[in-house]
Amino acid sequence: MTDTVLPDTTAAARTAPVLEVRGLRTHFPVKRGFLGRTVGHVRAVDGVDLSVRPGETLGLVGESGCGKTTLGRSVARILRPTSGRISYRPEAGAEPVDVAALSGRGLRAYQRQVRVVFQDPFSSLNPRMTLLQIVGEPLRSYGIATGAELEDRVAAMLTRVGLSPKYLHRYPHAFSGGERQRVSIARALIVDPKLVVADEPVSALDVSVRAQILNLLRDLQEEFALTYLFISHDLSVVESVCDRVAVMYLGRIVELAGTDELYARPRHPYTEALLSAVPRPDPRLRGSARRIRLSDDLPDPAHPPAGCPFRTRCRFARPGLCDVPEKPPALIPAAGGTDPGHRVACHLAGELTLTGVHETPGATA
Ligand code: SF4
Repeated sequence: MTDTVLPDTTAAARTAPVLEVRGLRTHFPVKRGFLGRTVGHVRAVDGVDLSVRPGETLGLVGESGCGKTTLGRSVARILRPTSGRISYRPEAGAEPVDVAALSGRGLRAYQRQVRVVFQDPFSSLNPRMTLLQIVGEPLRSYGIATGAELEDRVAAMLTRVGLSPKYLHRYPHAFSGGERQRVSIARALIVDPKLVVADEPVSALDVSVRAQILNLLRDLQEEFALTYLFISHDLSVVESVCDRVAVMYLGRIVELAGTDELYARPRHPYTEALLSAVPRPDPRLRGSARRIRLSDDLPDPAHPPAGCPFRTRCRFARPGLCDVPEKPPALIPAAGGTDPGHRVACHLAGELTLTGVHETPGATA
């Protein structure tokens, strides 16, 4: 994908992010009229900075329409970003590749290493193809295997994801939602990727099979040394599988921290509101949990509020500070927590006392 360079064996290179996103924007034109004139842009992703470390599971959470799926698809280069940089480092010491600028063979090589598991296993599998064709297609299209070798590899991968190889010649309609998602995972992993973008991988499944698929993803991560970008609106699921969590609102990251820190000590009012909807396992805390209901719907991403994008729904919004167009809050280190990597984008983060899910209400951040 790039010219060979001497490996950098420093400690910094060994722990360098596998993926680094800087100032990423993915905007979609809004067209009107007979001539389809562009009258504006939906800012689905609007200036995201993010790093994904090798071997970790980074959660990306937020309401429907916050831009998390568009961010995942931009990272996987299913969508072409409008601007910004995505640096991909396939292994420690390797020279990073500028993914946003890739095309042709370079893009295909990248998409072999960065694979996507989609939300809906009913629509993401071609009903006219057998499991052998679906899972084997990437092997064929990348020229990795054909014929008997391809069939052997597909059979082995089906076995690994918990499906019998005797199903090779069956079609997707013969399988349950959980089994179809196992097929999707097999298709993603058959070409030995480094990074998997899992876009709501269990939200279309029955509750009874969600845990099985999450356990499978965890086992496969260990076995294949995978890194996950795990997109979900379900904060209970994210808490159970993610090492760190990024909270997204109107195309921007508003908070980022290790999972334990974020769930115990949120620093952004939007994170606090999302966490207030998480069911509390501790019966002593259930009665005391106060659900924070956000006012209004998500603002139009074609016309986000000036200043802090969350200010129209924030109970702490301060006129003259949060609504200053020239001063949107930047994602900066959050002082006072136990996680030095904790970042928050709120002018008042240092003053607010917010409630997490594992502490009694009123616990000081
Ligand atoms: Fe609320 Fe102001 Fe913080 Fe935005 S900057 S989250 S409006 S307090």
